[in-house]
Amino acid sequence: LAKTVSRNQFQFYVASVDSEMRERKQMEKDLHQALLNNEFHIVFQPQIDYKNHTIIGAEVLLRWVHPTRGFIPPDIFIPIAEDNGSIVGIGNWVLDQACKQAAIWQKKGHCIKLAINLSAVQLRDTTIDKHIKDTLAKHHIEPQYLEVEITETGVMEDVSKAISTLNSIKDHGVSTAIDDFGTGYSSLSYLKKLPIDKVKIDKQFVHDLLIDEDDTSIVNAVIQLSKSLHLKVIAEGVETEEQEAYLVSRGCDMGQGYFYSRPVPADEFLTYLLAYDKKNTEKNV
Ligand code: C2E
Ligand code: MG
Ligand code: MG
Ligand code: MG
Repeated sequence: LAKTVSRNQFQFYVASVDSEMRERKQMEKDLHQALLNNEFHIVFQPQIDYKNHTIIGAEVLLRWVHPTRGFIPPDIFIPIAEDNGSIVGIGNWVLDQACKQAAIWQKKGHCIKLAINLSAVQLRDTTIDKHIKDTLAKHHIEPQYLEVEITETGVMEDVSKAISTLNSIKDHGVSTAIDDFGTGYSSLSYLKKLPIDKVKIDKQFVHDLLIDEDDTSIVNAVIQLSKSLHLKVIAEGVETEEQEAYLVSRGCDMGQGYFYSRPVPADEFLTYLLAYDKKNTEKNV
């Protein structure tokens, strides 16, 4: 009996791996088409400055609505797009769309700094710094209105290459942030070596910040460390007022999360921005 069971399980396993492979292959193909078919759009999530409670910027996040499968989360399709190289075209599109939107908002008098996620694959592209510079120029956006977010895992492969690319991006006036800090193969020495302006505390540590003592310690340590190294520090995944209060009391510079807003389309973001400004102007009167 044991033999039969394990054989059946094995066959089941093979069948499911097989269908997973097929699904992945299909998604790889679909990703190549997605840009041409206009299946992507970007959304914006505000970043709040805790010093004066203003919106200092927004993170730009990519959304893919597949024609038959519907919404597919970026955590699923980005790694596949990185593997098949389509992330370069997709990433360039995100950058272009972000700058285009920044220009529209600037014309209305809202100068918002936008942060885009830069994949490790994009960071390895030797023309990325020039590409960023050209895209900013195309949309008449000053470089101080753009930030690039990179992950630690992203720079691991070739640290010296990442340093030089980030340096030329920074030389142009674009700021840099390290995303999901504390996850992946964190090495404290990278914080010192990498030309970055900002540390983003990963949301996994913020989630149980007031429940799990280990998370409290980690968050405290990252804030302290960032301050000692003269880096700005932002908490991701802030979902409650209590988390915000704690982060503020610890001297965290900024916050981002559902407590303020989910990532939303451009028009909704502008509505949020106007309401937020109004609320805070009234508070300060
Ligand atoms: P990330 O850059 O760390 O982005 C933050 C993620 O946390 C986003 O997930 C956001 O929707 C989510 N989030 C924000 N606030 C909260 C909160 O309060 N609670 C919780 N539970 N989650 C919150 P999203 O949009 O699903 O993106 C996932 C990841 O996909 C991003 O993580 C980033 O690594 C990647 N990604 C998204 N857009 C792009 C892109 O344009 N290019 C590249 N290369 N990667 C992207
Ligand atoms: Mg990010
Ligand atoms: Mg993150
Ligand atoms: Mg992430």
